[in-house]
Amino acid sequence: MKQLSVTRFSLIAIVIVQLAGCNGRPSVQEHAGNDVPQYVLAIHGGAGTLSRERMTREQQDQYTSKLNEALEAGEAVLSSGGTSLDAVRAAIMIMEDSPLFNAGRGAVFTNQLRVELDASVMDGQTRNAGAIAGVTDIKNPVLGAIAVMENSPHVMMAGTGASDFAAGQGLEIVENSYFHTERRREAVKRQIEAEKQGTVGAVALDTYGNLAAATSTGGMSNKRYGRIGDSPVIGAGTWACNSTCAVSATGHGEYFIRNVVSYDIAALMEYSGMTLNEASGHVINSKLVEAGGTGGVVAVDRYGNVSMPFNTEGMYRGYVKSTGEKEILIFRD
Ligand code: ASP
Repeated sequence: MKQLSVTRFSLIAIVIVQLAGCNGRPSVQEHAGNDVPQYVLAIHGGAGTLSRERMTREQQDQYTSKLNEALEAGEAVLSSGGTSLDAVRAAIMIMEDSPLFNAGRGAVFTNQLRVELDASVMDGQTRNAGAIAGVTDIKNPVLGAIAVMENSPHVMMAGTGASDFAAGQGLEIVENSYFHTERRREAVKRQIEAEKQGTVGAVALDTYGNLAAATSTGGMSNKRYGRIGDSPVIGAGTWACNSTCAVSATGHGEYFIRNVVSYDIAALMEYSGMTLNEASGHVINSKLVEAGGTGGVVAVDRYGNVSMPFNTEGMYRGYVKSTGEKEILIFRD
């Protein structure tokens, strides 16, 4: 009888943990350490052929200061008790509004010399997600993705349907020319390799222990119009689940879709017991390299560990923790 009740208890416990899903106890054996930060934010501004030789000091400073502004905006949300979702939104909007990055204003052109934008978001507590793809007029694509997640029964909306939905949600709609910059026009005309990068992304852990991730991009320069990359694909460009990690990716999207990169990192943590660093390093520096894909991710786990691996020359990236730890990097230092 005693034996039976123990078995029953175990079964009930298993069911509770499984039902808890992303809220449940982590299945990974990651060390928490003594100083689990209360909050963490990590961001990227794209990966690619970035080297000191190709960038002037002034350009480096421009990127560093915009990344810093994005980190500060997200940190202000987290330090005042805001959610990880609000923090990733705040950080991404700063980068979407900046012509420096390939997201929102300053996004790359398609082969038809227009801009088509993709974005996605995922809430690690609920595993709810939203995405927009191939939109040409939503000023801040990340807001479109959040609106799909929060105010529709869908996960992904595309093209004019997504724009109409966003307009109905009160989001700002702009002419396609709002996104255009001379630099990106030149890049597509002259097929400048170094101008491809600049996708933006953010991952955060908030003071409530919840993770969130979001990604926003213009895609690949000179892409065939209608092409959709990994950034709006949940599991490829973006993933968040409280029991493992939050991930935002950047790189050659077709490879990230075929290799389900963001989810693969979480799956390795969940099923193989890898730490965040082991899982993200393995996926980006082994599996993706073997597949021929280039790019990187920023990721954070529920203990506030940050990982930012990339297999390109450089990746605009940075993170800040409640402990005061902060770093902003561009090159492979
Ligand atoms: N991943 C994006 C895409 O393929 C591009 C990038 O991150 O640079 O659309």
